[in-house]
Amino acid sequence: MSGVGVHLQGLRRSFGGVPALDGLDLELHPGELIALLGPSGCGKTTALRVLAGLEDADSGTVVVDGQDITRRPANRRDMGMVFQAYSLFPHLTAEQNVEFGLKLRGREKTAGRAREMLELVGIGQHTGRYPHQLSGGQQQRVALARALAIRPKVLLLDEPLSALDAKVRVQLREEIKRIQTEVGTTTLFVTHDQEEALAVADRVGVMRAGRLEQLGAPADVYLSPATAFVADFVGLSNRLPGVTTSQGVEVLGTALPLVSPATAGQNVTALVRPESVDVVADPDGAGKVLTASFLGPFSRVVVQVGDDLVTAQVASGQIAELTPGTPVRIEIRPVAVALEGTS
Ligand code: ATP
Repeated sequence: MSGVGVHLQGLRRSFGGVPALDGLDLELHPGELIALLGPSGCGKTTALRVLAGLEDADSGTVVVDGQDITRRPANRRDMGMVFQAYSLFPHLTAEQNVEFGLKLRGREKTAGRAREMLELVGIGQHTGRYPHQLSGGQQQRVALARALAIRPKVLLLDEPLSALDAKVRVQLREEIKRIQTEVGTTTLFVTHDQEEALAVADRVGVMRAGRLEQLGAPADVYLSPATAFVADFVGLSNRLPGVTTSQGVEVLGTALPLVSPATAGQNVTALVRPESVDVVADPDGAGKVLTASFLGPFSRVVVQVGDDLVTAQVASGQIAELTPGTPVRIEIRPVAVALEGTS
């Protein structure tokens, strides 16, 4: 089935006078996977629940496949859902769990469809197992099969990987991406894990206080954060003093472009990614290596330059020559940066 478009318009929802959604606008193109990313309490789950019909919005509209479904009850919205907690029935096998979802919707020929879906999610060999005989990752695969079996218009995933250990999380997120691309169902994936969001999504929506702060392709959100909040939330940033110029901002002697313009001549704090900083051993350099940590494929070096500490991500092959105390110079690549305090 090819995906349908989803349009959330001006959604507002308050709990006890405190807004969880504060005029959220979000459009999902047919077949795309959008990850909603943001700190705890920013309204991600509320947005998903309003789309599912599990929560009413105080105002705003939910349009799916061109139809206004704002007032339609959850059981008539054709949405497949997977939650953080494995929500399988313990007394039913994997296959029966998927069939149950189908029967609930009055769908015919359930056995064939259930098995087909379990094959799709990679556990065709375990159809007869009960949930307690499956690992957490396998249970979430069954939950995904159950959600997809009904051929939902929209797939809603609410922190589906949070309860799994790190390795399984990475495996399963790749699988979710593969399966979602294969079935083409428009998908909203809620997570607070930035790496997960960047890895699975066609576009990432970064939320803050009930609204979207930025919506863009993973590389755009990471490399061209629209605001300091996004720069800070997605990835690590150095906070370095700078002075704005007519061209951008000067940071530790390097002219850098800005993601959004600022008045020249101001003292500011620029957010610079560790991977935009190169460290070069140099007896005449103004910096000195403070610490060097080996992290596997890349390593992290902290350099003291005057009163400032600059964290750089370097190739691990480099750290043999960057032992603590080594004089170095740092070179910041001309990647656009955000300024603290801007929104
Ligand atoms: P988390 O990652 O911690 O789940 P979130 O971004 O998904 O956070 P929501 O669960 O959408 O955030 O919650 C947004 C705000 O609304 C929070 O302040 C939360 O306490 C509040 N809230 C959500 N649901 C309810 C509810 N049923 N009753 C009262 N307050 C609620």
